[in-house]
Amino acid sequence: MGVISLCWIKPFPPTPVASVHESTPPAFCPIYECHLHDNIELLPYSEVVGVEGKGGDFNVSVVRKPRFVDPKRCTLCDACVKVCPVEVEREFGGGLENRKAIYLPYPQAIPHSLVIDPKTCTRCGECVKVCSPGQSIST
Ligand code: SF4
Ligand code: SF4
Repeated sequence: MGVISLCWIKPFPPTPVASVHESTPPAFCPIYECHLHDNIELLPYSEVVGVEGKGGDFNVSVVRKPRFVDPKRCTLCDACVKVCPVEVEREFGGGLENRKAIYLPYPQAIPHSLVIDPKTCTRCGECVKVCSPGQSIST
């Protein structure tokens, strides 16, 4: 059986899906079920830049966007989030919630790791100074 790839362009799935994903326990969450499925590959924060071929035999080119935080090293200690001076409106907080420039895209994020928003990050370096495992962050 082939592998199906699901790709979304932002660090979080399209907003309606993300809202369901955020408020649903992992056991009932469709995105999390996809994550556990052997034949489904999730490509968050990625963009399809080219498709070649024909039905049943496609070659798809995908660019993975830089997260600036290494999911394998980040322990989710939150120290960087606390010191980040940049605060912007959170994407699905209904205008009532803010997030930092370095943030967990949503509570059940896949991969379960932070990401830096390059559009709002000022490159102040405060997050790098407090990152205890070191080298988790590269801005
Ligand atoms: S470098 Fe960017 S993400 Fe890190 S603390 Fe400064 S503004 Fe926040
Ligand atoms: S300080 Fe480093 S290890 Fe802690 S949450 Fe931030 S990136 Fe992850």
